[in-house]
Amino acid sequence: MHKKPKLLIIGAGVAGLSAGIYAQMNGFDATIYEMHRLPGGLCTSWRRRGYVFDGAVRYLTSLCPNMKSNQLWDELGILDDTSIHFYDELLCIEGSDGRKLHIYTDVDRLEAHLLDLAPGDEAVIREFTAGIRDFKRLDLPVDLTAGDILELANMGREMVPVLLPTLRWYGSTLLDFAQRFKEPLLREGLPLFFQFAPDDFPMMLCLSTLAMMNDREAGYPLGGSLPIAKALEARYLSLGGTVHYRSKVRQVLVADDRAYGLELADGEFVSGDIILSAADGHSTVYDLLGGKYTDRKLDEIYQGGMTPSKSILQVSLGVAMDFSDQPPTINFPLAEPVWLGNLRHERLSVKHYCFDPSMAPQGKSALTLWIEADYDYWKWLRGDPQRYARQKDEVAEIVIEQLDQRYPGLRGAVEVVDVATPVTHERYTGNWRGAFAGWALTRRKMSFMMGTGMPKTLPGLAGFYMNGQWVEPGGNVELSCGSGRDVIKDICKDLGIPFVPDIVER
Ligand SMILES: Cc1cc2nc3c(=O)[nH]c(=O)nc-3n(C[C@H](O)[C@H](O)[C@H](O)COP(=O)(O)OP(=O)(O)OC[C@H]3O[C@@H](n4cnc5c(N)ncnc54)[C@H](O)[C@@H]3O)c2cc1C
Repeated sequence: MHKKPKLLIIGAGVAGLSAGIYAQMNGFDATIYEMHRLPGGLCTSWRRRGYVFDGAVRYLTSLCPNMKSNQLWDELGILDDTSIHFYDELLCIEGSDGRKLHIYTDVDRLEAHLLDLAPGDEAVIREFTAGIRDFKRLDLPVDLTAGDILELANMGREMVPVLLPTLRWYGSTLLDFAQRFKEPLLREGLPLFFQFAPDDFPMMLCLSTLAMMNDREAGYPLGGSLPIAKALEARYLSLGGTVHYRSKVRQVLVADDRAYGLELADGEFVSGDIILSAADGHSTVYDLLGGKYTDRKLDEIYQGGMTPSKSILQVSLGVAMDFSDQPPTINFPLAEPVWLGNLRHERLSVKHYCFDPSMAPQGKSALTLWIEADYDYWKWLRGDPQRYARQKDEVAEIVIEQLDQRYPGLRGAVEVVDVATPVTHERYTGNWRGAFAGWALTRRKMSFMMGTGMPKTLPGLAGFYMNGQWVEPGGNVELSCGSGRDVIKDICKDLGIPFVPDIVER
């Protein structure tokens, strides 16, 4: 082995960049190969004629400086120059009767609003808000990988304050809880809190998210998603790491059941001591390694044991209209259902970014709508580029028509239209079936996710590791960045070298 272990990383998404940063901190010689021309993967935004459309982060977590988990951002050193917008209201959900359920982030204000809307539901409302207050104590350490018995004991101690609320809420789903309200707006509206949540979305994730919002631990980083990725890239480069863009990996090279290099799409071969895939899990296991290093458990996971998160359409509009007096996200029912692609929709959810002056010219608004989509349909359409383009135009037209009915004059104010499909997500990031956040979080799979979780190595293959959202279920930037830290810690342990996270001085 070289003096500095040579680490080859597939993918410059936030997980690959984070792993690169921790690798450089720990004396590795890391090189990242990224198929796109930019860092970030899903954590991205794009500029169109004066507007910036964001493809991911609506809120980033663990932002409170005195939280233990904030250590991750300290170590990565990426949020120093980033201002955060904390929402007063996260979203507004309109019922079919036109009444509005405001999801305020301040738990006392939320409680008062809910009691006002549904005085007959006082007992359930107070149970709900007490649950949020219980999860305010949730402050997990950044390091949840116990290397030895001492670390395990420390971790256990850290978990004590959240044990009771976890046990109390573990079995509940958001949908079941919402059905306990007598008031139809709460029964209908609360399950819409997380767009694309599966039917058995765990209630405790709803409560802990609201607790984070209340405590200003979660907020929107001004500038949007791409600057986060660029900050990670800058930090990685400043530590001496190397990244090659437009460098798609075609195959992981293996000899005697040990990974030793990569074959790139242009035919180049590169060798290294350790290979880390921070790319899509399915393509890593079944394409880059040809499905040779799996077992029954892993195959079952990919064949339906776990559910990938939904595939989505993103319709982005630049409009010469000021949405700054509107709630940041409005989920509203349509007068008549519409067909977008091959799926029927009864509601739309529109987001604006007027709280971030970098997203649109003054007095104008960047709007985005994330809409559930059928990957197979869009993949099939892509085979006929003209039809695919026509269908995208049709989706945009229907969305604009619906928004125009709601915001009269909007049609005439539209300056930019941009539609991304599940195939766009797949093409730019490699994510399996265009899934927007790795695996879906379900109550049924909670114990698996909170327990052993997905394996970070593959059976029978030495010198190879995986990280990112496909091995760290939860599908968010913090978890993917944290998985960069965890995997380098694992690699250090396997190599018998100490893991040293270098804390950046503020
Ligand atoms: C619509 C949407 C909303 C979201 N909202 C939030 C939010 O509010 N808060 C939050 O924290 N997170 C949010 N997320 C999730 C978050 O963006 C992702 O979980 C996170 O960015 C995933 O990072 P990753 O590095 O694990 O994976 P990816 O971003 O998928 O990165 C994988 C990288 O590998 C590259 N790659 C793949 N295959 C190859 C190959 N063969 N060769 C070379 N390179 C390859 C890809 O191009 C990509 O750059 C959202 C995501 C979406 C799409």
